[in-house]
Amino acid sequence: MMGATAFVHESRPARVVFGRGRRAQLPAEMDALGVRRALVLTTPEQAALGQEVAGLLGADRCAGVHAGAVMHVPIAAARAAIQAARDAGADACIAAGGGSTIGLAKAIALESALPIIALPTTYAGSEMTPLYGITDGGEKRTGRDWRVLPRTVVYDAELTLGLPVGLSVTSGMNAIAHAAEGLYAVDASPIHQLMAAEGIRALAAALPRLAADGRDLSARDDALYGAWLCGSVLGQVQMGLHHKLCHVLGGSFNLPHAELHTVILPHALAYNAAAAPLAMNRLAAALGAQEAVAGLVALQRALPVPTSLRQIGMPADGLERAVELITAAPYPNPRPFERPALRDLLQRAFDGAAPE
Ligand code: NAD
Repeated sequence: MMGATAFVHESRPARVVFGRGRRAQLPAEMDALGVRRALVLTTPEQAALGQEVAGLLGADRCAGVHAGAVMHVPIAAARAAIQAARDAGADACIAAGGGSTIGLAKAIALESALPIIALPTTYAGSEMTPLYGITDGGEKRTGRDWRVLPRTVVYDAELTLGLPVGLSVTSGMNAIAHAAEGLYAVDASPIHQLMAAEGIRALAAALPRLAADGRDLSARDDALYGAWLCGSVLGQVQMGLHHKLCHVLGGSFNLPHAELHTVILPHALAYNAAAAPLAMNRLAAALGAQEAVAGLVALQRALPVPTSLRQIGMPADGLERAVELITAAPYPNPRPFERPALRDLLQRAFDGAAPE
């Protein structure tokens, strides 16, 4: 979509409650949804947050805390959580955490249609999407189903204070990636483009401040606001080459999600630049840069983030297989998936060379 000439805009927004300390409103949000007893989900690392949320709900509104969320939602973890929700007689789930925890709540919702209240603690954006993924036998099955879209999202920046600076800035780059691809998505409307540009602007301004001081709550507010917008774009339009690269590399080589997005983003955008000039102009403006890819590289350089696939555990002998997998089932993209050019892109990303 290159201008406001013809478009379809569909969104099914969740109820969004934004502000520091707003997690105290959870019982009222449960009332608004018409639910009685919620199962609280977290990762084992965030079990203390689960207990805090249970305390906010009180014994009669909390059906239990299940601290069993794991990266990529393994089927066994999904089954255990579905059983825990049944055993506890829960009529809702509260997912307190990042994409892994919200992903677990989605697996429960897919099976049981229990409504989800999300309390995001990273910038990954899963809380705003109807996308789910469950890993079975080493393969991640993904899909889109409106039943898994959280009904209420409470964005409380105080919950992000514990996110280490390194993960905060890579998670923020992960969010920027959703919006950057939203700018040239085949099905993006002018509204999506506004959300994408504003989300990038907010995050690009917030991340260097967060890198300087992870306790800067005002920067945390701005980053979370940007993450909301970028996650909304991810949930509403189709992603292109960048997300294809990250799905293949993350899924097949088990690379860390947010770091991977951070390394790949300037390379994927450089590949698409000539085929999507209007999107690049918008991206550059949102980044406050003369040129989009240079702006992304400058942002990356200003942050304590990895800049090569080698650094994050990609095996050198996996690049050929990655190209096979990427070109086997392309995503819609402004520039066609060209094998030799993609092989070069991966090599540059592997070496940490400048994007072309
Ligand atoms: P994550 O949820 O896996 O969290 C990473 C680690 O950080 C975990 O140990 C977690 O407990 C910890 N953590 C999270 N927030 C914290 C905080 N505030 N303080 C301290 N520790 C904290 O990371 P993620 O990047 O949010 O999610 C990645 C996963 O989500 C991937 O599997 C990805 O595929 C999925 N995802 C899905 C969607 C979607 O729309 N379905 C969107 C984005 C990401």
